[in-house]
Amino acid sequence: MPKQTHLHCSFCGRGRDEVKILIAGQEGHICENCVEHAQDIITQELGLKQEPPAAATANLPSNFKLNIRKPFEIKKFLDEYIIGQDDAKKVITVAVYNHFKRINQKPQADDVEIEKSNIVMVGETGTGKTLLAKSIARLLNVPFAIVDATVFTEAGYVGEDVESMLTRLLQNCNYDVAAAERGIVYVDEIDKIARKGDNPSITRDVSGEGVQQGLLKMLEGTEVLVPPQGGRKHPEQKMIKLDTKNILFICGGAFDGIDKVIARRVNTNAIGFNVNKETQEYQKKNLLQFINAQDLKKFGLIPELLGRLPIVTYLNPLDAATLRTILTEPKNSLIKQYQRLFDFEGIALTFDEEVYHFMVEKALEYKLGARGLRSICEGILTDAMFELPGTGENKLHISLDYAEGKFNKSKLSLLKVA
Ligand code: ADP
Repeated sequence: MPKQTHLHCSFCGRGRDEVKILIAGQEGHICENCVEHAQDIITQELGLKQEPPAAATANLPSNFKLNIRKPFEIKKFLDEYIIGQDDAKKVITVAVYNHFKRINQKPQADDVEIEKSNIVMVGETGTGKTLLAKSIARLLNVPFAIVDATVFTEAGYVGEDVESMLTRLLQNCNYDVAAAERGIVYVDEIDKIARKGDNPSITRDVSGEGVQQGLLKMLEGTEVLVPPQGGRKHPEQKMIKLDTKNILFICGGAFDGIDKVIARRVNTNAIGFNVNKETQEYQKKNLLQFINAQDLKKFGLIPELLGRLPIVTYLNPLDAATLRTILTEPKNSLIKQYQRLFDFEGIALTFDEEVYHFMVEKALEYKLGARGLRSICEGILTDAMFELPGTGENKLHISLDYAEGKFNKSKLSLLKVA
């Protein structure tokens, strides 16, 4: 019997300290990795394994019939769901329209090749970046995936490989490869993979620059072998080949502090001692409109990546008036959604106008932005949603007193940011 210190897996040879579990047999040991692998072989051999999703191999008719609209129609659609952000809407609308023109172009004799128009959006969290990308995908009827850049690491390190963002896209369209190949991927938090400082790193930067490098080819267009179930846990899975040439990548990030970079470039002073908060906010809002690739490079995106993200646009921070409009005006605004929920119970839900102002005030005060409006509504309405069903009540009017009372009792009121 080998000594305790020399225990190792008899299948893969890994030592005791390289594995989590080592199961002892009569003459040897097996580690958790090999058990998992063996399990996969068994299911495959016994035919228990699910075949790769049918649509991945068969040429099934696609549910995704591309729905190309003229730019003004796209903008009109976006206006129904997203308040303000006109500059971003216009830039993205044109980029998307050109992108689909590019996809449909027939090879021409003069060799003019339209390049891909991947987009980068800069704007505080909760200003509607994801909503914009999602709405565009819905209008055009193309598969859409939201991925978070922070989960990726350079190949070979712990974390997900960048290819796995395409897994998400394939899963979202039920493995319809042809549809996925002209889908839209929204890469959130792209600013979090910025390298620290403007200079190339000397040491390896696992999660920043390395990931940016990993994204390059994919953004430009290449054939990628995508693990259909994602991750590295299923080494036996049959890869699906996906061409990213016609996939539109929209990247978004808050790029905290980029206003100062822009300020330095356009030679204005973003932060002054005797500038009040409102003026600062106003300047910040105005500065973003001058954003360009150079600022993003200063922030830490590598030039090669920026070269593949030729369209740069920005979203304004949301002010009180915009938040107020967001509450009730969009087609599926929060208030309309709650009214629908109460409507299912036969209850007509109404609000005092002051309640809307109270909600906006709290969202700003607690620095929760548009995303916070929802939590505030929940805080105010949860008790009613719990108590009213089944009571035969047919209306509920929310007065300012009621809203304040419920909000102050909710957990949310404890979250105040200094
Ligand atoms: P981001 O991606 O910029 O962090 P989101 O797009 O996820 O923000 O926005 C969060 C939520 O806030 C959305 O689901 C939407 O309800 C609301 N919202 C944000 N901005 C707007 C806007 N301009 N118009 C309408 N709703 C908005």
